[in-house]
Amino acid sequence: MKKNEPNKGAENTLKATRQLTRRLPGRVQSDSVNRLRASVDNLRISFLPELVIRVKAADEVGIVLKIAHKYGIAVTTRGAGSSATGSAVPLHGGWVLDMADLKQLKVDPVTRIVSAQAGVVTADMQKEVERYGLFFPPDPSSKKYSTIGGNVACNAGGMRCVKYGVTRDYVLGIEGFFASGESFNLGLPLKKYVSGLNLRDLLIGSEGTLGVVTRIHFKLILKPVKRWTGMFAFRSESAALKSVVGLFKAGLDPSVLEFLDRQSVCCAERYTGKTIFTNQPRSSILLIELDGRDSEVREQKKCLLKYMEGRATAYQIAPNEAQAEKIWQVRRTCSQAMFSLGDTKLNEDVVVPIEKQAELIRYTIALKKEIGLATPTFGHAGDGNLHVHIMYNRASRAESKRAKKGIKQLMKKVVDLGGTITGEHGVGLAKVHFMPMQHSKTEIASMRAVKDALDPKGILNPGKIFGDFEVWNHEPTEVTLPWDHR
Ligand SMILES: Cc1cc2nc3c(=O)[nH]c(=O)nc-3n(C[C@H](O)[C@H](O)[C@H](O)COP(=O)(O)OP(=O)(O)OC[C@H]3O[C@@H](n4cnc5c(N)ncnc54)[C@H](O)[C@@H]3O)c2cc1C
Repeated sequence: MKKNEPNKGAENTLKATRQLTRRLPGRVQSDSVNRLRASVDNLRISFLPELVIRVKAADEVGIVLKIAHKYGIAVTTRGAGSSATGSAVPLHGGWVLDMADLKQLKVDPVTRIVSAQAGVVTADMQKEVERYGLFFPPDPSSKKYSTIGGNVACNAGGMRCVKYGVTRDYVLGIEGFFASGESFNLGLPLKKYVSGLNLRDLLIGSEGTLGVVTRIHFKLILKPVKRWTGMFAFRSESAALKSVVGLFKAGLDPSVLEFLDRQSVCCAERYTGKTIFTNQPRSSILLIELDGRDSEVREQKKCLLKYMEGRATAYQIAPNEAQAEKIWQVRRTCSQAMFSLGDTKLNEDVVVPIEKQAELIRYTIALKKEIGLATPTFGHAGDGNLHVHIMYNRASRAESKRAKKGIKQLMKKVVDLGGTITGEHGVGLAKVHFMPMQHSKTEIASMRAVKDALDPKGILNPGKIFGDFEVWNHEPTEVTLPWDHR
């Protein structure tokens, strides 16, 4: 700003705030509790917004954006704030647009389509459609908290993707508003729609940088009648991951296929004081679910158990839902138990071709030795999406430095293996640094051109996806979030 030039930014902010409070009385929160709550997501790095706007109707989103666009105010849309990458954090302050109160939900059992407002919680929508014998498969582990709008904005995945695909695969249409405050209807509650350029798919996974979604039309499938769960132990990670490839070759179609490496299993066993497989501590593990019609599941189970003969060293089958839940508890425990290895976790959600997973695990084991930090890994082996963690103690400068080095090397290896730096969490702030590893300059320039075309003033979620944020240079904030069980 030049000398004697009025502070345009501050003046605009003041005018915008006045208009906003006049147009949407009762929706604007400026107290420190609400601002603090909206300043973080699961990355736990905090940037305070100036205001939080908790809309109660879709039209109000248009009003907010028209004012923000006119005065150049940054707007970060927020669902439940469960993002793992800082994508819901208002890096540039400005306004947080809180969608959690948009909760309308309507199921059409004839067309098997559900229309949900953005603030509907994922698990609530799943429960509602199941009342009609229908099924919405995408199931991020955060489903009890995350919103449908957040799922679409991140193209969320989960355990069932191996058979059923990710959020994108179920979206028929989205309603919402562009940065200018003008509304859009991209797709409709129809199974077929090929009119015009497919902007709907451009917005899915765009992390709130291209528009704000207020309602989504999803297609549904029939709920599988039968489910079967089993857990298999292996001597090594290579043996387990070789079986993943073999299972598909044998014609199996698991609905869940999860992998745990020996570092993760070791943490879980130490944490609970129990070995998962008697007499076989520290095994690598595959958790497998089959679903479908009774006869289908019976047939698949027979084929699976035959395939595992001589490959797995032991197995457990859940005779009922309660036992199945116990098996899933093993997977959930690993995540908490890892904190015995360090107070800080770098959690990456990389993907490699499924045949390359064994090589990736060999690399994480070598990396552990090289950087002297634990690298426990588990994840969705059925689609090559592994959660590699590097555990370290934040107070140690030496450990922090080695963790940062390890993550960079890991990302490079993933890309060299023909994989991607993120399979479900998105880029947000945490992965902006790695974008040039994954994408050419031309690809990034094309993405930026799209962003500039749809949001010429750059007000929507600025600093995300593109930028130079280095997550390890920012001190995490001490905060307890709803999904914390430590
Ligand atoms: C314990 C835990 C487990 C998790 N497990 C998984 C998992 O298995 N699979 C997985 O994919 N993810 C997982 N996640 C990550 C996270 O839950 C998902 O990314 C989820 O989709 C985010 O939803 P949300 O409502 O919390 O969105 P937020 O965190 O509030 O926002 C995420 C991004 O979406 C944008 N956004 C939110 N709502 C809208 C909207 N209506 N319109 C436009 N943009 C919007 C935000 O600006 C932000 O960029 C997990 C997170 C936690 C904490």
